[in-house]
Amino acid sequence: MKIFEQLDERRAWREEEKLVLDAVRRVATEVIAPNAEAYDRDSAFPQRSVDAITALELNGLFVPEAYGGSLARYKLYLAVVKTIAEACGSTGVIYATNMHGSWPLILFGSEEQKKRLLPRMAAGGFGSIAITEPSAGSDATGMTTKFTPAGDDIIVDGGKTFITSGSVCDLMLLFGKWSEIADAKGAISALVVEKGTPGFSTTRIEDKMGHRASPTAAVAFDKCRVPRANLLGAPGDGIKILLTALNRSRPSIAAHALGIATAAFKDMVAYMNTRRQSGRRIAEFQGNQFMLADLASELAMAEAWLDHVADLVDAGAADFSVEASIAKLRCSDLAMRMTTEAVQMHGGYGYCRDYRVERLMRDAKVTQIWEGTNQVHRQLIGRSFVQR
Ligand SMILES: Cc1cc2nc3c(=O)[nH]c(=O)nc-3n(C[C@H](O)[C@H](O)[C@H](O)COP(=O)(O)OP(=O)(O)OC[C@H]3O[C@@H](n4cnc5c(N)ncnc54)[C@H](O)[C@@H]3O)c2cc1C
Repeated sequence: MKIFEQLDERRAWREEEKLVLDAVRRVATEVIAPNAEAYDRDSAFPQRSVDAITALELNGLFVPEAYGGSLARYKLYLAVVKTIAEACGSTGVIYATNMHGSWPLILFGSEEQKKRLLPRMAAGGFGSIAITEPSAGSDATGMTTKFTPAGDDIIVDGGKTFITSGSVCDLMLLFGKWSEIADAKGAISALVVEKGTPGFSTTRIEDKMGHRASPTAAVAFDKCRVPRANLLGAPGDGIKILLTALNRSRPSIAAHALGIATAAFKDMVAYMNTRRQSGRRIAEFQGNQFMLADLASELAMAEAWLDHVADLVDAGAADFSVEASIAKLRCSDLAMRMTTEAVQMHGGYGYCRDYRVERLMRDAKVTQIWEGTNQVHRQLIGRSFVQR
């Protein structure tokens, strides 16, 4: 694992960042990882794990000080997501999503909105971001959730599906169409729905292949009155807000996928160095070493690329959408391949629940689907080379 330790050394963490990472690694080892299997088996919300995260005030890493947080470098946030996801994919995505729901508010919210809403997130609130609808997935512009202005309120009607933390969130960043704007894309707008708003309900919790401890909800809005004060930007600003939000959330989903890939790699290497067949450890067979070499190389390259994306963000780059897509695509494809090979190297035992690789493989699959499917990311990356 020396190559990965060297990569981490090159990150040159500051003293205060090292303290955060040490604390997160300790909690990941002592609390989050030991509880992950039971939460997955029972499809139970990982309360002890999120409590441990809250105790470390990790939401504060993405909230500015003026609103109760202690804003850190994006690179640190990504390292925290990866560390938590390595211990438990479900807890990892719940934590990552807290930032996805908050960041657009930080970038596009008014001073009044930030002062009113962000301290709740900094104190450990759950965030969610609601884009997908039953008939608007890869093409989000097909969404039909309607925002109708009514004096000091906005009436929301419609529904969203597959919303991570949708059933538990304190704040939901909701996208819908402004009723008074005819243009399909131009009508998209964003507002913040607070927990307990009348007319906002959970209609279904998905029974998923993996990430079983992370609630994925279908939610409904029935004449739901949201104060107009919760509208982000102006009516029709939604696409701009959405694209900016995705630029930040996609690398974090990549970091989450890398956490799963790293867990699978470590488990696989450990098992291959103990399991013996034909008088040798299975790591000694050359064919298996070739496979390990390919996966270790890809893991190292993916880590280095994600560092590159984080550095762009921390340097204030305006446009890094293609870089973010590359990170999302490659890290999630790697997570799937790594976990599949890890199961393979565990033989029949890998197919049984006694070993963590079984859960890791189930958790890995969705990383290729959410935050834009990998087909969509291939299109976005490929399209960027078409000369205009
Ligand atoms: C566990 C989980 C959590 C999620 N969390 C959230 C969340 O918090 N918030 C949220 O808003 N959404 C969330 N999603 C939704 C997720 O982002 C969508 O599932 C994803 O964008 C794909 O949409 P879809 O499922 O409707 O598939 P579809 O868009 O119907 O796609 C079906 C297939 O067709 C392919 N396809 C579609 N269009 C094209 C094209 N133009 N070219 C080539 N192939 C194409 C896709 O790649 C896919 O393979 C979550 C989903 C899951 C499963």
